[in-house]
Amino acid sequence: MKAAIYPGSFDPVTLGHIDIIERASRMFDEVTVCVLDNKAKTPLFSVDERVKMLQKVCENISNVRVDSYYGLMVDYARSIGAHVSIRGLRAVTDFEYELQLAQTNRMLSNGDLDTIFLTTSAKYSYLNSSGVKEIAAFGGDISKCVTPYVEGLIWEKLRERAKKAEN
Ligand code: ADP
Repeated sequence: MKAAIYPGSFDPVTLGHIDIIERASRMFDEVTVCVLDNKAKTPLFSVDERVKMLQKVCENISNVRVDSYYGLMVDYARSIGAHVSIRGLRAVTDFEYELQLAQTNRMLSNGDLDTIFLTTSAKYSYLNSSGVKEIAAFGGDISKCVTPYVEGLIWEKLRERAKKAEN
């Protein structure tokens, strides 16, 4: 069985991520989308919330499952028997970071984990999760960036935060 993992922050999952997930699901028998707890980023959604939202947006793709992991991605990949990591490439700016990450993971896994890059669909090349959060923070229109379900969760989260800040 050909298994792949698609690791990332997914804070929140965007239409760009979903496009990569759908395309990867046609190439592999099983794709595990794995939410990694990135300590360098302060998240809007908790890991559990991100897992739930990914499960919901992927519910119609039968060979995709969603999980989370706190630790090294190579250890997680090994634990599920995946030898391929999927990453998306949007622009040249992604390349340097992604190349380094791919080579590091190959080294850490003793050559057991390779990275396959899927280039972004042109219509999503501008999209990233941070941008979506910034637009939403100023009340902008994010309907072209995320699914209606995820959009609802973002507004709900921002309302919660505003309420907390008032108290
Ligand atoms: P980001 O916060 O930049 O959206 P993530 O860690 O959630 O990053 O992304 C996981 C992977 O998905 C990365 O390889 C990233 O390059 C890729 N990705 C993110 N957005 C897109 C997009 N619009 N098109 C293609 N790939 C994307």
